[in-house]
Amino acid sequence: MEEYVTDALVLTKAPMGERDGRYTLFAERFGKLAAKVKSSRAITSKLAGHLEPGSFVTVRFLDMGSFQVVDALKSGKADIAPADLARLRDLLPDLQAEPDLWQLLVRGAFSWNGVLRTLGWDPRGACCALCGRSAEYFSGARQEFFCGSCVLKMGGNRVSYIKVEP
Ligand SMILES: [Zn+2]
Repeated sequence: MEEYVTDALVLTKAPMGERDGRYTLFAERFGKLAAKVKSSRAITSKLAGHLEPGSFVTVRFLDMGSFQVVDALKSGKADIAPADLARLRDLLPDLQAEPDLWQLLVRGAFSWNGVLRTLGWDPRGACCALCGRSAEYFSGARQEFFCGSCVLKMGGNRVSYIKVEP
């Protein structure tokens, strides 16, 4: 059983069974990973307070086939809205370190244009994949840019698209 320590940004949390929690982290050394936290929903949990979404933490976790956080220490808070943290979770691949994105987030320089540029999807000058007009949204699921009217035409829920500045 391997044990790892890394700095990470907590992206999201969700209940897992009666007492446990499933957390998604963006870790400096490992990229995005999902990990269980035992008894995180118990009122006596020592870890839960450190693992609120948007927190920068140093975490220790075990790889037991799946990941389990065994220690966490909060070191700061990112100024990123919960909905954007969830979009980051949906956008990032599993277990792929993204050092440039990590640096951008640690600097407190979060913007979707910056994040997408760092990941290789520069919104500047990007065109709608359907009509060629100036792009206003990026779809993480499709990895393509779209304009606002094509998003509407597709019946897309705008929440699932990332707003960009062309
Ligand atoms: Zn379009």
